Amino acid sequence: MTDGDAATPPDGAVPPRPDTLYAATVPQRFHPPLAGDATADVCVVGGGFTGLSTALHLAEAGRSVILLEANRLGWGASGRNGGQVHSGQRRDQLWLEETVGKDDARKLWDLSEAAKDLVRARIARHDIACDWIDGLIGAAHTEAALDDERAMVEHMASVYGVDSLTLLDREETARAVGSTRFVGGYRDASAGHLNPLALAAGLGSAAVAVGAQIHEGSEVSAIEAGRNGRRIVRTTCGWVDAETVVLAGNGYLHDIAPSVEARVLPINNYVVATEPLGEERMARLIPGRECIADTRFVVRYWRPTADGRLVFGGGESYTRALRSDVAGLVRPYLAEIYPDLADVPFDYAWGGTLAVTRHRMPFVRRVEPGLYAGCGYSGQGVATATFAGKVLADAIGGDTGTLDVFSRLPVPSFPGGTLLRTPLLVLAMTWFALRDRL
Ligand SMILES: Cc1cc2nc3c(=O)[nH]c(=O)nc-3n(C[C@H](O)[C@H](O)[C@H](O)COP(=O)(O)OP(=O)(O)OC[C@H]3O[C@@H](n4cnc5c(N)ncnc54)[C@H](O)[C@@H]3O)c2cc1C
Repeated sequence: MTDGDAATPPDGAVPPRPDTLYAATVPQRFHPPLAGDATADVCVVGGGFTGLSTALHLAEAGRSVILLEANRLGWGASGRNGGQVHSGQRRDQLWLEETVGKDDARKLWDLSEAAKDLVRARIARHDIACDWIDGLIGAAHTEAALDDERAMVEHMASVYGVDSLTLLDREETARAVGSTRFVGGYRDASAGHLNPLALAAGLGSAAVAVGAQIHEGSEVSAIEAGRNGRRIVRTTCGWVDAETVVLAGNGYLHDIAPSVEARVLPINNYVVATEPLGEERMARLIPGRECIADTRFVVRYWRPTADGRLVFGGGESYTRALRSDVAGLVRPYLAEIYPDLADVPFDYAWGGTLAVTRHRMPFVRRVEPGLYAGCGYSGQGVATATFAGKVLADAIGGDTGTLDVFSRLPVPSFPGGTLLRTPLLVLAMTWFALRDRL
């Protein structure tokens, strides 16, 4: 099979790509829906970073793989996110040391470094044109948040020997981010940012090139027991008989795997892309071209793109449907940080759904024999989800060492089950969002 059989899908074959800056700029081949029945060693459900990376690593290891994506590759969070590639896990090393002990905390740090390396290596190896730019700035919005950042940077230097983090005082932060709204921060030279849909599309092409079969427009409606411990993965256009199934639907996995879905809460986050601001203006705003994330509970994050726009994210909602007034929601957050950009035209404004876990650490597990899941990256999935795909593929191939480390992380179910978890969590999230404002 080639990398997609047609440049564009026939009318009605799949939902349209979302109206994002990324979809407007990244060409994607179309991979026709599943037709009839098929057999594979592994069936992967979901074509974001988790699923694509799993399929790529499995196919490279010589396994037969069929990946089923309900929409288009990168249609979910992987093609809609802020493109920031962070260092470390979603929770810092101090929390991890207390929660899982020093040994596993050290392993998790090493794995997070391996995750960034994997992303860079795949970009280089498959020649993925995703505009990687080095550097991330963490911008503290309060003195208490700056104290936490300072403690984290000092701990990382003294205990982990990390020399890529540099503390910034108030003036240095203002110069680096083009705004006086922050009390200080730090620069992480080993993090970076990229066009995430280009990465997803590139991983898809790489997976197909080594023999993975990918079908878009193929929504999985049920996973049933088959013969001899195998599973039947059903879609409206056919089914796959597989020895192993990998659930990689993240925040979009609705009602096909209750035991996995109970561990994650889907929440929506919103992004805008300004018109191109011009090189000179962008160089004044963010001279080092780093991506930036602040320290609020509902984080604001932004970055300059290769074509001189600001991609700015902020604002959440907790309903199944995305909000329609994204520009109106995000504009005040942008204007508060950059008053001069209060009226800047937005060329694109969109939302996406991610999955959070109770402690914000991912759920990457063997759920039962022959059934694996990778989800719940809690807003930090560009590197972690890509890495999780490798971890799952390695485990399916018999090397469970890294999966065991992830499996020891506490990822409890949300109280209230899949029905009541949302109202309960909305209350909690609203409280934390309110604290940001206070
Ligand atoms: C607005 C936003 C901003 C973010 N910013 C960042 C950031 O800057 N940095 C960062 O590291 N992370 C960020 N994240 C998080 C990151 O995007 C995710 O953690 C990551 O993309 C998860 O990848 P995934 O493959 O697990 O899930 P997804 O990319 O969501 O992919 C899941 C796929 O599964 C498919 N699917 C679901 N159910 C089925 C089914 N039944 N049958 C077939 N297919 C199915 C969906 O259509 C979807 O394409 C952000 C997320 C959002 C939404």
